[in-house]
Amino acid sequence: MPKKISIIGAGLAGLSAGIYLQRDGFETEIFELAPQPGGMCASWKRSGYRFDGCIQWMVGTRKDEPIYSLYKEVGALADDTGICHAGSISVQTGGLIYEVPLALDQFKSFLLGLSACDASAIEIFCRHIEMIGHSALIPGRPCGAMGFPGLLRHSRGFICIVQKYRGKTVYEVVNTFKSDIIRDILTRLMPGDYSAIALFLMLGTRMTGNAGYPLGGAADVVRRMEEKYRALGGRINVNSRVSEIIVVGGRAMGIRSNGRVYQADGVVAACDANYTLKKMLRGMYGHPQLDALLAEAPLFNPLAIVSFGLDRKLGIPFFAICEPTAGLESAPGNRICSYHLRSFDFDDSAAPKDGSSVMVMLDAPLEYWLRLKLDNPAAYKMRKEHLADSVAAELDARYPGFKDAIAVVDIATPATFIRLTNVYKGSYEGFTPTPSALKTNIRKTLPGLKAFCLCGQWTTAGGGLCTAIADGKAAAGLIKKSIR
Ligand SMILES: Cc1cc2nc3c(=O)[nH]c(=O)nc-3n(C[C@H](O)[C@H](O)[C@H](O)COP(=O)(O)OP(=O)(O)OC[C@H]3O[C@@H](n4cnc5c(N)ncnc54)[C@H](O)[C@@H]3O)c2cc1C
Repeated sequence: MPKKISIIGAGLAGLSAGIYLQRDGFETEIFELAPQPGGMCASWKRSGYRFDGCIQWMVGTRKDEPIYSLYKEVGALADDTGICHAGSISVQTGGLIYEVPLALDQFKSFLLGLSACDASAIEIFCRHIEMIGHSALIPGRPCGAMGFPGLLRHSRGFICIVQKYRGKTVYEVVNTFKSDIIRDILTRLMPGDYSAIALFLMLGTRMTGNAGYPLGGAADVVRRMEEKYRALGGRINVNSRVSEIIVVGGRAMGIRSNGRVYQADGVVAACDANYTLKKMLRGMYGHPQLDALLAEAPLFNPLAIVSFGLDRKLGIPFFAICEPTAGLESAPGNRICSYHLRSFDFDDSAAPKDGSSVMVMLDAPLEYWLRLKLDNPAAYKMRKEHLADSVAAELDARYPGFKDAIAVVDIATPATFIRLTNVYKGSYEGFTPTPSALKTNIRKTLPGLKAFCLCGQWTTAGGGLCTAIADGKAAAGLIKKSIR
């Protein structure tokens, strides 16, 4: 009889763990609270428009990359998946708009054009972007064929940058430039308190064709992984919130969902770590690293996403960081000083013929939206409409004719994130990649609990698609060992 594993969460980490376990002869069943798999790798359809609430840059899309092989193994990418590489990112700061090129030579000239007196700092900065960009990235911890020898051979640039900038923030690196504008632009691209490694990784992978948007977006990534998992015999129960992990004699022996107990030989929690530790395991097992991080580490700000289906393309760039032209609030009194704008003009599958889908992502206070939804559903609905109207007015001022082109409007608030993913404090990517969070190699097992394993974005600071998939693979290896 094959051993049975219950997996909590059908995000990319849960699907990945399921795929590797099924492949190795285990019988697995995934329990997902939402009506569909995908978790944060989310997309949704409205009247023929598809809104992609996730992928902006998927790291590891170059075919010679170890991460690419991982994507292929789990079906996240297929041989014929086209990858869109944006040529630039539009960044607005101090009222001016800069097109930041995503090709190294042009990027260097762009920076020199802004500040010739920073020539030597620009030279070093660009050399380090190049080093990381031409280096292989290793998904998860090194093991197997791409273990330490492979790491040393193929990933020298990556290792050098990690060693050099470990412990340094983006602020510390950008402060080597005299130019205020360069500092402003770079900290718009990556927040100043994040690890500098995140900035080099983002620029390096994007400038070498190793991070892009897979055509078909989150929807196709999840669909392919789900198909792979089901083809291997895996089962997914949607609308199935897990309320408890059953523990007998120090072993995880199954889960409780919708009032029913499902017995198993082991459990993988590929979901929110706080809920797992505090609720599903009722605080019985401490995890010193996660307990400390959950109490103190900075999290990603909760988001509101306002999406528009347009009946025409307006030439809006794929990705822009914008300053509102007039006052824009994501809740009463919560004025926004910058928002992210995305347009899918280039992806024909995102809209009916000649149309486009356009999305605005802005920080929004979780408590306000949760409370309003709970206390006054009618006011919640009105406030959402008000937000959509003010975002539409903002975009109309920027792109004349925008309001006229709107065919569909959709609004997700931080309360939507909680409803569909139960994520801790609305942090859509877990712990932010600060130097301190990144240096914590978060354990996936719990002292005193056998046949149990955590995985996903809460066990690797910074989260992301490739870490979720690599984490699912690592979890499959760990749970196999612990139920032997
Ligand atoms: C707006 C946005 C933009 C992003 N952009 C990028 C990007 O450009 N590049 C990138 O690499 N990453 C990006 N990410 C992050 C990336 O999507 C996530 O880090 C990754 O998908 C996390 O996968 P996961 O499986 O670890 O967690 P999740 O996706 O959170 O999966 C956990 C699953 O568990 C389920 N669950 C929770 N509690 C329970 C319970 N009690 N019972 C049953 N099920 C439960 C949830 O519903 C969820 O489906 C973005 C995310 C967002 C929201």
